[in-house]
Amino acid sequence: MQIAGKLEIEDLPRVCPLLSRAVNPAYGRHGRLAVTVAGVTFGGRRPVVIAGPCAVENRAQTLALAQAARAAGAAMLRGGAYKPRTSPHDFQGLGLDGLKILREAGDLTGLPVVTEVIDVRLVETVAQYADMLQIGSRSMQNYPLLVEAGRAGKPVLLKRGMAASLCEWLGAAEYIALEGNLQIVLCERGIRAHSAGEYSRFTLDLNVIPAVREAAFLPVIVDPSHATGISARVEPASRAALEAGSDGLIVEIALPQSACRPLCDAGQAISPATLSRITAFAERRTAAMESETDCVESELAAVGAESESAGARQ
Ligand code: PEP
Ligand code: MN
Repeated sequence: MQIAGKLEIEDLPRVCPLLSRAVNPAYGRHGRLAVTVAGVTFGGRRPVVIAGPCAVENRAQTLALAQAARAAGAAMLRGGAYKPRTSPHDFQGLGLDGLKILREAGDLTGLPVVTEVIDVRLVETVAQYADMLQIGSRSMQNYPLLVEAGRAGKPVLLKRGMAASLCEWLGAAEYIALEGNLQIVLCERGIRAHSAGEYSRFTLDLNVIPAVREAAFLPVIVDPSHATGISARVEPASRAALEAGSDGLIVEIALPQSACRPLCDAGQAISPATLSRITAFAERRTAAMESETDCVESELAAVGAESESAGARQ
C-alpha cells in the first residue's frame, strides 16, 4: 500500500537530485562537500564548534561570551537577534541592534557569526551582518524563506524540523540548492519523540547522522543544547554526536554569574569551562582519527610496496 505524500529513502534521487549521493557519484561513498564560512570549513577532518548565547541580549553579555567562546576553543559565534519564541509575550530578540552587536562581537574576536533569519522580509538585512544564515527548526518547511536564503549568497545552516523526516529535511535543503547555493550545513537538533519533556527537551536522533551522510554529501552538525534542554546533558550528547560522525556542534553558553542568567533557554546553557572540555574532546578525537588514518594509509602503502616487489620478482 502506498500512502499519499509519504516519502521513502528510495525517493531521495527524485526529491533532492542536487544533493543526493546516489545521483552525484563524484563524492564517492563517504566524501563530503566542504562548506567554508569566512575561513572556517565544515566537512573537513576537524569538527567545527560553534558557541554563543541563545539570544543576543545586550552588548556587554555578547562581547563577554564571544571572548569566552574563543578562549574555550570555539571556531564560530552564534546568537539570535530575531528569536522564534513559543509565546509572543516572551523576549523576541533585539532585532537589528542584535545583529549589529553580534557583528561587533564577531569582528572583535575574529569568529565568523551565524544567526537565525525567521522572516523572508529579513533575509537581506540578516545577510548584511551574518557570515552564515541559520534556518531554525520551526522554519525548516517555510519554502519561500528557504528560496530567499538560497539567493542571499551566504552559507546556510539548516536545522532539522522537530518533526521532520530525513527526506523532508533533505527536500528543504534542495530548495536552497536549487537557487544555486550548495553551501549548506545540516543540523540535527532533536526531534519530538516518546521521551520529549519527560527527561529531555527533545530526543537527540544520533542515528540520523550516518543516515544523512549515506544519503547526501552535505556536512551535518549537531545541536546538543536544544536537543537535550538540560545543561548537564550537553557534554555527553556532544561527545556522542562526534562519535556518531558529526562534522561539528552548535552549543549555547552563558557566564556562570547569576546576574548574567539568560532570558532565553537558561536551563540548557553550559559554562565556558564545559565548552573547553568539549572542544578538547573534539581535538583529541580528531588527532586519534588522523593517526588511525595514517596507520591505515601506511599499512596500505606497505601492502602496495609488497605487491609491487612481488610483481617485480615474477
Ligand atoms: C536556536 O538555535 O536559536 C534555535 C531556536 O534552535 P531551533 O530552531 O533548533 O529550535
Ligand atoms: Mn536557544
